[in-house]
Amino acid sequence: MLKAVKFRLYPKPDQETFLWRQWGAVRFVWNKALWLKQRFYKRSGTNLSVIHELKPLIARAKKSKKYAWLKESDSVALQESLRHLDKAFTRFFKKEAGFPKWKSRRAEQSSYHCTTVSVGDGWVRVPKIGKIKAVTHRVVEGKVKSITLSADATGAYYASVLYEDGLPEAEPVQAVYEDEVVGIDLGLKDLVIESNGHKEPNPKHMKRAAKNLCRKAKAFSRTKKGSRRHEKARKHLAKAHKRVSNARSDSLHKISKRLIDENQAVCAESLKIKNMVQNCHLAKAIHDAGWGKLCIMLAYKAKRAGKRFEQIGTFYPSSKTCSVCGHKLEELSLSTRSWTCPNCGTHHDRDLNAARCIRLEGIRKMKAAGQSVLKHTA
Ligand SMILES: [Zn+2]
Repeated sequence: MLKAVKFRLYPKPDQETFLWRQWGAVRFVWNKALWLKQRFYKRSGTNLSVIHELKPLIARAKKSKKYAWLKESDSVALQESLRHLDKAFTRFFKKEAGFPKWKSRRAEQSSYHCTTVSVGDGWVRVPKIGKIKAVTHRVVEGKVKSITLSADATGAYYASVLYEDGLPEAEPVQAVYEDEVVGIDLGLKDLVIESNGHKEPNPKHMKRAAKNLCRKAKAFSRTKKGSRRHEKARKHLAKAHKRVSNARSDSLHKISKRLIDENQAVCAESLKIKNMVQNCHLAKAIHDAGWGKLCIMLAYKAKRAGKRFEQIGTFYPSSKTCSVCGHKLEELSLSTRSWTCPNCGTHHDRDLNAARCIRLEGIRKMKAAGQSVLKHTA
């Protein structure tokens, strides 16, 4: 099974210099290719292929005098940079993402390495740099596939290690029992509403930290660009943001772990957040709640445990359908928190009913896909 782990790195000063040079080369290749692509498109309307036309230029550049310094970097890292750019363009053309952005030395840095990489007790090794001191809080047993070296905006260094542990993947559950299937509705007041009535309150990390973030952002904007105080204020702000995102990840990990531990299958609505979020305040709140992140965690945790994470279509009217008799309302305004079914007379809490509908639709989908779903636990 493929596993991922992230270690904090403490490079020596000369390794630090080397890392920044490496990231500089990765950025240079990305930005140059992006520039070439735009220029050729503007001039003659030709759409250069990143992989077939631009990637081979790396080798040619290395032979030239001007760009010979590229030879000092791990060539895999440079090629991977363009593979990422190609993917960024694919997503852009599919309208899944915006136009690829220039890479800046002030943002997060990263480089990918996959040949002659290894991890040991207290170190990781990558080509051209050698062993870098690392806090290896977990033993990496098995074959190391790749190591991505990165620095975040606070200036901390990391190695993300991907390895094959040699153990077989968890057997998928054979029969799912209906009483071990849960449906979840994602919300803002409560982050998760389960079909069994349990609710997870939304911790609203960003909102809680807003005052502090705002103060640090103001302090940052008051400093002069290029000054030492500017750099210091930038790091303070980045650290505050990082604390928020760490706290958010922490609570999402806990919630997703509990949901997968307690159930054989978890059903949720698939999210098209981009289409859903028109309002900027709502967008911030949804980002802070971490719906997208939660679904990603549920998906891989379910797979790892051999359980099911079922996502149902965006167009399924989970809020407007009665979870008891299946009657569908014509309309239900967003502000209506509870309603009574005109067909069977059941009184519904809006969110709880939605979670129950999502569960039923999930069960229907699993059955349709050939998964046996049994009535009760034997
Ligand atoms: Zn009804």
